[in-house]
Amino acid sequence: MKALQYRAVGQEPEVVELETPEPGPGQVRLKVTAAGACHSDSFVMSLPEEAAAGYHLPLTLGHEGAGIVDKLGDGVIGVSVGEAVAVYGPWGCGYCYNCAQGKENYCENAAALGIQPPGLGAPGAMAEYLIVDNARHLVPLGDLDPVQNVALTDAGLTPYHAIKYAIDRLAPGSTAVVIGAGGLGHVAIQILRAITSARVIALDVSEQKLELAREVGAHHVFASDATAADNVRSVAPHGVDAVFDFVVIQPTIDLGQAILGSEGRQLLVGVGAGSAKVGVVSGNPYESSIMAPYWGSRSELFEVLELARNGSVTVETEVFSLDDAPEAYRRLHDGTLRGRAVVVP
Ligand code: NAD
Ligand code: ZN
Repeated sequence: MKALQYRAVGQEPEVVELETPEPGPGQVRLKVTAAGACHSDSFVMSLPEEAAAGYHLPLTLGHEGAGIVDKLGDGVIGVSVGEAVAVYGPWGCGYCYNCAQGKENYCENAAALGIQPPGLGAPGAMAEYLIVDNARHLVPLGDLDPVQNVALTDAGLTPYHAIKYAIDRLAPGSTAVVIGAGGLGHVAIQILRAITSARVIALDVSEQKLELAREVGAHHVFASDATAADNVRSVAPHGVDAVFDFVVIQPTIDLGQAILGSEGRQLLVGVGAGSAKVGVVSGNPYESSIMAPYWGSRSELFEVLELARNGSVTVETEVFSLDDAPEAYRRLHDGTLRGRAVVVP
C-alpha cells in the first residue's frame, strides 16, 4: 500500500510503498477514506534527532483518520466490516481510572506501556490502510462525509474540550477570544457560536485567516499585533472571559494575559512555549486560571460529530491526494491553507 512517511529528521515526508498491514487479535483494519494534516505533525517534523526518536521514524503520519472497516482481527466485536468510522486518536490502556471515564487522552499507563496515537508514534492514517488497536477507538460516522469531517477528530475535538472547560464563564454577555484562526481555530469559533452565547473575537496575523474567521462566525476580527489588546478592550472594556490560544508563543501568552478579565480562563492549546505569570501580585487577573489541555475524551468526539450532523460546525477543507500530501504540509508550514488540509488516499 501507499503511505506518507516522515522518514528522516529534517527531511520532507515522502510517499512510499509498504506492505499492507494485517490486523492482529483485537485490532481493526480500516480502508482509509480521509486523513487530516495538523500543525502538530509539523511540530514533530521540526524536532531534533533526540526528541524525534520518541516518534519511531520512519513514521506514517496522520493522527486525524476516518475509514471503512475492512477486516477484523480475532475476537473483535461491536463493529462490522463495511461500517464508516472516525478514529479517536489519543489511545490509552482502556483500563485505568481516566480511561474508564473515556479520558484516554490522560491515560495513566500509556507512556509506560508504549501506547502512542496513530501518526504520533504508531503508524498513522496517511496511508491506504490503518490498523486501529481496539474497536473502542472507533466512532460511527454514519452518513457524515469522511472528507468533510475527518478533521473533527482533532481540530474539532481539541477546541471542543477546551471550550467545555471554560463554558461556565461563557454566559450571555461574555466575550471569548480565539488566537489563531487556522485548522483548530476556525472550528473553535463555530463551536463557541454553537454551544455558548459568548461574543467571539478572532485574532490572527493573516488577513486571509481573519476573513475566514468572520465567515465562520466571529463577531469581531483584529490583527494579532501590538494594537490587538487595545482593539479587544474597545469591545470588552472589563476584559474577556476566555482566551483560546492556538499559537502559544510569548507574545500570544502575554496578549492573553493582557486582555483577560478577573475569573477568566486562558487556554494554551497551541504546541508552542513561553511562560505566564501567576500570583496575586504578579499581574494576572484575580482568580484567572491558565490551562494547557491535550486533545479530548471519547464521549466528546461523539458530541463534536453531532455538531457536524446538526449543521452547527463545518470544517473548511482543502483536499489533496496521497501523492500530493507533501504539498499539503508545505502549505501548512507556509500558512497558506484555508481551514484544514485533508488527504484522500
Ligand atoms: P494552523 O497552522 O492551521 O493554524 C495556526 C494559525 O495561527 C494560523 O492561522 C496562523 O496564521 C495563526 N498564527 C500564527 N502566529 C500567530 C500569532 N502570533 N497571533 C495570532 N495568530 C497566529 O495550525 P493548527 O493545526 O490549527 O494547530 C494550531 C496549534 O495547536 C498548533 O500549535 C498545534 O500543534 C496545536 N495542537 C494542539 C493540540 C492539543 O491537544 N493541545 C491538538 C492539536 C493541535
Ligand atoms: Zn493534531
